[in-house]
Amino acid sequence: MTSRIALRAAALFDGATTATGPLVVVEDGRIASVETGGRGSPPPGVELVDLPGATLLPGLVDTHVHLGFDAGPDPVAALAGRDREEVLEQMAQACAAQLRAGVTTVRDLGDRDYLTLDLRAKAAPGELPTIVAAGPPITSPGGHCHFLGSAVSGVDGVRAAVHEHAERGVDVIKVMASGGQMTPGTRWDATQFPPEVVRALVDEAHAHGLPVTAHAHAVDAVRDALDAGVDGIEHATFMTTDGPRLDDELLATLVRRRIAVGLTVGLKVVPGMEPPPDIRRHLPAILAVAAAICGSGALVVAGTDAGIAPPKPHGVLPLGLVHLTELGMTPLQALTAGTSVAATVCGLGDRKGRIAPGYDADLLAVAGDPLTDITALLTPQHVLVAGQPV
Ligand SMILES: [Zn+2]
Repeated sequence: MTSRIALRAAALFDGATTATGPLVVVEDGRIASVETGGRGSPPPGVELVDLPGATLLPGLVDTHVHLGFDAGPDPVAALAGRDREEVLEQMAQACAAQLRAGVTTVRDLGDRDYLTLDLRAKAAPGELPTIVAAGPPITSPGGHCHFLGSAVSGVDGVRAAVHEHAERGVDVIKVMASGGQMTPGTRWDATQFPPEVVRALVDEAHAHGLPVTAHAHAVDAVRDALDAGVDGIEHATFMTTDGPRLDDELLATLVRRRIAVGLTVGLKVVPGMEPPPDIRRHLPAILAVAAAICGSGALVVAGTDAGIAPPKPHGVLPLGLVHLTELGMTPLQALTAGTSVAATVCGLGDRKGRIAPGYDADLLAVAGDPLTDITALLTPQHVLVAGQPV
C-alpha cells in the first residue's frame, strides 16, 4: 500500500532557489511532485498538512557530528564509561535531538567500535536521520582522539587501518592530521603524521573508493592534507604557534580544487560554559580566518562538531547556519551550504538536500521566512524524515 501525504506552505526554499505557495506531494518516502505559485492542490484522498506562514526547506545536513559524544561536561569520560548498549542508546538520543531540530542527515566523523554502523543497520525507515559514517577516526598513537580506538603509525599502519575501515563498510575516512583541543598532550598547531603517511592513507582510501576528510587545525596539516589529495578539510583554523594565520596560497588551492571546508560553526550559549582557554584567546583570529574562507568562494559547509561539549548539543546546526551569515554569507548562501551543498559533500547529492521529484522526503518547515531572517530556522514547525513525521 502506498502512503501519500501533501504539504502546503507559504514559501519554498528547494535547496537552490526560492518560490511561493508550494505544494509538495510525498509518496513512499520520496518527493513525488512539487508545484509552486499556489497552483497545486492535493490529489484526492491524500492527507494535506497545511502550514500557513511557514517556509518549506530540505531537511538540514550536518557534515560533522559525533553521535557517541553526549555533549555533557566530559563526553570523553562518559563514552569511556558506557558499554556497547549504553553507547547505542546515547546515539539514538543524539539522533532524536538532531531530528527535532530539522537535521535529517548527519555525517559522523568519529565514533567508537564502528557503533554508528550498528545503529543504522538496526533502524527502521524514518526512525533516524540518514547517517554517513567514518567509524573511528584514524589517528597517531597518543594522538587526537586516540581513545576512540584507531591509532596507528607508518605507511603500513594507515593502509591497514583504511583497509579495515573499508571492510567494515564506512562511507568516508576521517584522519586526524593535526592535534586537537579535546585531547591533552596533542598540539593543534602541529601535524600528527609525516607527509608520506598522509599520502599513503589518501591513496589507500581512494583505491577503496572512499573519500577522505582531514581534521586539520595546523597550517602544516592543511598543507600536507592538500598535497596528499584529501577531499575535505575539517576546522581549517590555519593554526600556527603564533595563532591562526591564513595562508593565501593554500586557500587558493582549496578554492581551485573545490575541496570541502567544514567550518566548525554553531556554538550555543550555555551559562557557566566557556570555550577552552586556547580557543578563547584565539577566537577573534579564528573567526577572521573563517570569514575570509567564507568570502573566498571556497566550498564551505557547516560541520558543527555536535556532541563534543555542552555548547555543542546535537541539533545545533540551525545555529551554525545563523553563524555562517555572521561570517558574511547571505541567508540564501548559508541555507544552500546547509542543504544541497552539504548533501553533495556527503556523497548524497542525488538523494538529499533538494526538494525535487525523486529526492528523499526529508523536509523541514519553519515559521516565517529564513531568507529574510535566518533565525527562523531555530523554530522548526514540522519535520519529515523519509516521509515520516518526526
Ligand atoms: Zn570532530
